[in-house]
Amino acid sequence: MSRKNYRLFLIILIIAIICSVFLFTQLAVFHDQFGSGNATATSQVTRELIGNDSLGTVEVIKNVGNPNGKKIAYVVGVHPLENDTHTTLLNQLPKQSNLNYCYDIYVINVSMNYSQYGQLLPDDQPGREEGQDLALKYVYPQIVNGSYELAVDIHGHGSAYPYDTFVFSPVDGGTGEDYGRNVSQSTQNISYYNPYQTTSGPYLTIPLNENGVPAFYLEENSYFSQDVKDMHMRELIKGVDGLKFS
Ligand SMILES: [Zn+2]
Repeated sequence: MSRKNYRLFLIILIIAIICSVFLFTQLAVFHDQFGSGNATATSQVTRELIGNDSLGTVEVIKNVGNPNGKKIAYVVGVHPLENDTHTTLLNQLPKQSNLNYCYDIYVINVSMNYSQYGQLLPDDQPGREEGQDLALKYVYPQIVNGSYELAVDIHGHGSAYPYDTFVFSPVDGGTGEDYGRNVSQSTQNISYYNPYQTTSGPYLTIPLNENGVPAFYLEENSYFSQDVKDMHMRELIKGVDGLKFS
């Protein structure tokens, strides 16, 4: 090979290497975006702070499930004393595979110390009003403007109702009620029951239902064992994920 040909050969070789590296990285990006579903879901989950004042903080965990699916919001922490059901959702939802929809979880953390009370206590307990205020101030605006098909507000109770595990919309006759009834019908242990006595409705689920985002509650009996709470939560998650949206 002449010196001139050798130089030409070297240049072509270098160009070929650069092209290969470029092609390889593009393929890797393509695989990340459209390759295995689970890896994609995990890599796109984000957590951001959307509210922070003297009452507490509000965070949102975004893109759980199918990031390309229609959007559904879950809300936990409106009533901080009911935190056993909140942590049950936070533990169970990310563990479910092959979800149809894209889930954002709004997490309200009141700054007031409530955990020392341990069990559910009546309505006037610490943090209850603060959680509701944080829901109206920070969660409501994001959900009502966030192109969500549905919002589900997670609560617990201390055997206070004739049903242990139930869903309901505080607004009768709307799409929120329809979705709640569908979920109840598609599950084994979740009833549909409207107790007509919510303190938090005006702070989140009522204005959502009245302004274009169907919303319903889950109420779970906090005295159930964790295994039972986990099972009921998986039923809820599956029921919600099986809803059909037009
Ligand atoms: Zn509650």
